[in-house]
Amino acid sequence: MLPYSHVGLPMQVTFWGTRGSIPVPGPNTVRYGGNTACVSIRLASGPLLVLDAGTGIRALGNAPEMHEECSVALLLSHGHWDHIQGFPFFAPGYRDTCRIQVIGGPGGTNCLKQLLSDQMEQSYFPVQLEQLKARVEFDEIHEDWKRIGSARVRAFPLHHTSAGWGFRIEESPEAGGGVVVYLTDNELPPDGPDWDFMRDLCGDADLLIHDAQYLDEEMAAHKGWGHSSGRGATRLALEADCRRLALFHHDPDRDDDAVDALTADCRTLASAASRTLDVFAAREGQTLAIRAASQEPRAAPPP
Ligand SMILES: [Zn+2]
Ligand SMILES: [Zn+2]
Repeated sequence: MLPYSHVGLPMQVTFWGTRGSIPVPGPNTVRYGGNTACVSIRLASGPLLVLDAGTGIRALGNAPEMHEECSVALLLSHGHWDHIQGFPFFAPGYRDTCRIQVIGGPGGTNCLKQLLSDQMEQSYFPVQLEQLKARVEFDEIHEDWKRIGSARVRAFPLHHTSAGWGFRIEESPEAGGGVVVYLTDNELPPDGPDWDFMRDLCGDADLLIHDAQYLDEEMAAHKGWGHSSGRGATRLALEADCRRLALFHHDPDRDDDAVDALTADCRTLASAASRTLDVFAAREGQTLAIRAASQEPRAAPPP
């Protein structure tokens, strides 16, 4: 297996699917995309990190950078359709030169294998999990950090309608030291210990990717559905001193213009705060270079 080697470059984050619940292709979602959750992170070295296997993972599998011999660490947040449905269409799964490690939080080894296997049961799909040619392995992250390539990763529980995990990914200092937190399908708790726990896990992230499915005024009708508002995500990012916030898991009924309006409202909230926070709506096909603030290139001094 040839691991990725990207030595000396910052983490490269690419959004392959940003939609929640169900794919919604069409003219009204063309700017932010209609595919469901999938994000890749290229590290300085080691496997390609992939966060979730919604329908966006199909395009990732067909991308030129997925060379013949590839090694992928697939971190799955949970088993809802919009996070696993693209897995059977992930081309590297059909190549015996590829290795796919499917990784979850505590208990993930068995439950994720069961989820992916059930999804590919004969009634639903013509190819079964054990028929894939790639080396597919299952693993989990316990209390402590797990080292994956040049990064370390921690898993923590979501507030959602099914058990699942958010992930904090820290690149090594030698490789830019960027920190990305992926926290989707997460209904933010009210102020209290649970909120503080979540804020601390997001602390000082260079990029927080957070569920922003609803508007504040929609939350009352969706309480207990396991999702957050854009404003809630913005408040979390501000309190956790994050540098960038990607609003993620766009509601399938929110067209591009409505995502723009939700984002503008969150930017207004962020700009009223004393801290600097770059808020944007995650867009399918978008790539970002993420490094720690201390490693950002400085502007040249004036002559
Ligand atoms: Zn979802
Ligand atoms: Zn979900």
